[in-house]
Amino acid sequence: MSEGPEPLTLVWFRDDLRVDDHEALTAACADGQVIGIWIRERRDDNGLGPRPLGGAARWWAHESLRVLEAELAQLGIPLLFAAGSAADIIPQVAADLEVDAVRWSRRYAPASRRLDAQIKAQLNEAGCAAHSHSGALLVEPWTVSPQGGDFYKVFTPFFTAVRDRTVGDVLPPPRQQKALPEARLRSVGAHPWASDLDGLGLLDGTGTGSGDFASARTPQWWATTVAEHWSPGCREAARRLRSLSEGIDDYAEAHDVPADPDSTSGLSPRLRFGELSPRQLLRSAWDVPEVSEDDRHAWIRQLYWREFSWHLAYHLPRVETEPMRPGFAHFPYEDDPEALGHWQDGTTGIALVDAGMAQLWQTGWMHNRVRMVAASFLTKNLLIHWWHGEQWFWDTLVDADEANNPVSWQWVAGCGADAAPYFRIFNPERQCERFDPDREYVDRWLGRGPGGLTQAERSGGDDEPIVDLRTSRQAALAAYDRMKNESAGSNW
Ligand code: FAD
Repeated sequence: MSEGPEPLTLVWFRDDLRVDDHEALTAACADGQVIGIWIRERRDDNGLGPRPLGGAARWWAHESLRVLEAELAQLGIPLLFAAGSAADIIPQVAADLEVDAVRWSRRYAPASRRLDAQIKAQLNEAGCAAHSHSGALLVEPWTVSPQGGDFYKVFTPFFTAVRDRTVGDVLPPPRQQKALPEARLRSVGAHPWASDLDGLGLLDGTGTGSGDFASARTPQWWATTVAEHWSPGCREAARRLRSLSEGIDDYAEAHDVPADPDSTSGLSPRLRFGELSPRQLLRSAWDVPEVSEDDRHAWIRQLYWREFSWHLAYHLPRVETEPMRPGFAHFPYEDDPEALGHWQDGTTGIALVDAGMAQLWQTGWMHNRVRMVAASFLTKNLLIHWWHGEQWFWDTLVDADEANNPVSWQWVAGCGADAAPYFRIFNPERQCERFDPDREYVDRWLGRGPGGLTQAERSGGDDEPIVDLRTSRQAALAAYDRMKNESAGSNW
């Protein structure tokens, strides 16, 4: 199809906003000339496509794309932007530019896989090659299954099956390209879905995927306040990779200490948006010289929890709405918008929960230990459905991930694969004594949630928690027993 002397490839960037260790980009550059594209996708009427980005993630994507555009420009590769249906846009761009092939890194959520398969067929039918590459995971989900089953539902056997697999070498950034004639790109710009980065509306609070949640309340929030805490983009990610030892050192001992900013790596949004590949992280983790073997292994194990989440999400088409344990469809959750509002605002009167929700609001991120405590409090002490928490996190986390978020929520709520047993109800006060004994974390964040008020300030001096921890725990256990009786025979 190409008119030029060299083949032309379109690289469709999605959740892989980097130039290093990028198989699709490397293969495209090896073939000839390259153009990139990123689409702000909407799920189509049949539910195909990725889950629409939440507010914090939209801000991150915008910033990260700005960096990617500049990095690609240095390589002589233009990056096009568009908003709309990828099934309309990709074949049209491929035809307009007369590209020889389209390449992309695979994504694994069932609704996105079905869309990608459809687009591949459309391209092939039009005589254009389409190639998908690995890049987001260490383990392709279909390459591992337990004996006698189709996929793993327990982490440890999954980890045992995959941890010794070899991973390939990290790919260097591709070589510089000959600049494409401007005229060649002009035809694409005429379409109504064509845009520049700012025109995508990622920062203006429109089109949120999760209804009237946080991003609808204060659309500009992430572009102002959260921006103080992060530098999105693959350049900063590469710098963080070089100092990976800070995130791994003392990990085995200290990873549960929320007050210490170095207790974990803080790399989750980099993985979420593919600014770093898991292969880069794994290879670097093995090579970091100055950390103990215990710390190294403990950290690498967490990378495989992410793999496990994607393994589940690959096999479960409705992981963000359907409990993995069917019996939980009968769980007697409460409808309590007022309590949900207190949880979202960080005004429950429970210090560790409120501090965590404030950290989330201020930074778009929350320490894992506190995520577990806040999620347990919502689903068990307040008996509010995990969907509500999952959606709030989806809208407010910069690392909001189609697999890790729902799978982790289901894990805490007791309805997930290999989940914490339901009766394991975190006591947030004891968790605070154990993991934040000097109240450093709590004092740093309390009163900094969406409304900026503590529970005491909101209720005129009354700082009573909105529920009693002991009686609400008992109510949760009683609700669990009711569910078991009502759904006898189901798997919980
Ligand atoms: P580190 O401790 O440095 O770990 C390195 C990497 O391993 C992380 O970046 C992450 O990709 C992976 N990882 C670490 N812990 C877990 C875990 N428990 N499960 C799966 N992968 C893990 N993580 C997300 O990336 N996106 C989410 O949307 C998300 N939602 C969550 C919701 C709840 C209710 C809970 C309890 C956890 C959630 N997690 C999510 C998992 C975990 O909290 C974050 O991955 C972690 O806090 C990220 O911090 P870090 O990069 O410093 O992790």
